[in-house]
Amino acid sequence: MAYKVSVERNTLRFAAAHFATFEGRCEPLHGHNYDVIVEVEGELTEDGWVIDFGALKEMTRALCRELDHKFLLQRESKALEIEEGMSNWKVRFRERGWVFPKSDVVALPVENSTAEQLAHWFAERLRERLAERGAANVTSITVGIEEMPGQAGWWTERIG
Ligand SMILES: [Zn+2]
Repeated sequence: MAYKVSVERNTLRFAAAHFATFEGRCEPLHGHNYDVIVEVEGELTEDGWVIDFGALKEMTRALCRELDHKFLLQRESKALEIEEGMSNWKVRFRERGWVFPKSDVVALPVENSTAEQLAHWFAERLRERLAERGAANVTSITVGIEEMPGQAGWWTERIG
């Protein structure tokens, strides 16, 4: 049994461009208005809470701000050829090629820019932030990344 708090949507959102690869194909460049849902489970502190809603929202908003109005590059992709230049990222998929100015790109340590892998990235970063705050009572962090209403990818990070 565990207590759980959740924060979602409203200010927890970002707009970003990406293309995912799948089954030997690469999507056309497109974007989403992503909504973020965060659930944190844990024991209650002496004050009777799992974590302060405000603190959890601020951590999540900070991550949203990192991704907002950026191209999300799956830095660990096995399907794309990716070359890091001085001021640009050059990306190739077979005969298609793109050059992105670095200022417009967030290079994420993921194999694909799917909602599932974005959720995993969010959860790991939130875990780091919670650890910095000394939130020893937290037992899991679940993140949902909704690409559009009714279509979300999820990851649960278990702690301890
Ligand atoms: Zn998409």
